[in-house]
Amino acid sequence: MISKDHIIKRFVSYVTVDTQSDPNSKSTPSTKKQWDLANKLADELKTIGMQDVSIDENAYIMATLPSNVDHKVPTIGFIAHFDTSPDFTATNVKPQIIEYYDGKDIVLNAEQDIVLSPDYFEDLHLYKGQTLITTDGTTLLGADDKAGICEIVSAMEYLILHPEIKHGTIRVGFTPDEEIGRGAHKFDVKKFGADWAYTMDGSQIGELEYENFNAAGVVVKVKGKIVHPGYAKGKMINSMYIAQEFINSLPRMETPEHTEGYEGFFHLCSIKGEVDETQLEYIIRDHDRGHFEARKEVMKKLTEELNAQYDREVITTEIKDQYYNMKEKVEPVMHIVDIAEEAMKQLHIKPLIKAIRGGTDGSQLSYMGLPCPNIFAGGHNFHGRYEYVPVESMIKATEVICKIAELTAKKA
Ligand SMILES: [Zn+2]
Repeated sequence: MISKDHIIKRFVSYVTVDTQSDPNSKSTPSTKKQWDLANKLADELKTIGMQDVSIDENAYIMATLPSNVDHKVPTIGFIAHFDTSPDFTATNVKPQIIEYYDGKDIVLNAEQDIVLSPDYFEDLHLYKGQTLITTDGTTLLGADDKAGICEIVSAMEYLILHPEIKHGTIRVGFTPDEEIGRGAHKFDVKKFGADWAYTMDGSQIGELEYENFNAAGVVVKVKGKIVHPGYAKGKMINSMYIAQEFINSLPRMETPEHTEGYEGFFHLCSIKGEVDETQLEYIIRDHDRGHFEARKEVMKKLTEELNAQYDREVITTEIKDQYYNMKEKVEPVMHIVDIAEEAMKQLHIKPLIKAIRGGTDGSQLSYMGLPCPNIFAGGHNFHGRYEYVPVESMIKATEVICKIAELTAKKA
């Protein structure tokens, strides 16, 4: 099977290249340094024997593993992103390899007293006896999503070296800028040409996701009237009090800190206020499309009511949809989830199917015509110094990719 050392070596060669993305940049990729890894990946795909390897002017990489069967099989794709989060530095990543993890505290950095402890990060208990890759406590690791890239490259290499495993045409896609929400923006779905795909961008072993939030952003502007406070009787309108009425009219329990699972929410992200004008920024999230639309209606109604009450347009509310639940696009082709689930079961991995309380590139891609559930890549504690990945999970993810390819050909 796939050797541990081989996976570790490949993974380390990726995470030691800094590819942090930048939300304040307008270019694609958002940072020049993402090219360093992008070019290396394109070369590596050629070296392992992939066909039609292309890298476009925005650093999107695509490649093909041709079918090795005579009958017609749907073309499937595997997608991962090579940028890392702007939340934490990725300069000088120094991965630490912990063999036969003993289930105790891991000192990441003795000098700075940074400890990765199972008392706090309970998931560590799952990996006793396994090989973990951690940071040295001063950077993130970048398993999100270089673990995904490593698994896809390793699976393609394995299939090339093992032609006895029968599969259809497989497409591979690596993207920049996922962490700043733009990974799918310039993804050429037509050129990719797959019937469906999977992002290898989940966390814990077994994760399989095809539901995410419907999402909207809201800007509420409240107009007041400023007058000298000594002579304001009957004249001043304090926009901050009206904003407060708006806030208090929304259900206090339907907020992120009081909801979980399939419960949606209104989230007040910011308030900027003076007497003359107050601006509120909200996000609306709900898995259910009907409930999502109803939440937007609630805000519109409330705006109308307050305007009527003050007898003029004191409030304007601007609502913009951001992304939608991919479930709508995946459910009509549910066999793509079933194949992934079966692949895991055949490999003795317990599938953990749950709804994402957020969005993924796959949700955008699904609405662009490429249904795209998300599969575990194995890492934990993304976007920070406590990030780690068990090598065994990366090997399992690699096997899942090979198994999905095999099952898709068998079922066709
Ligand atoms: Zn990711």
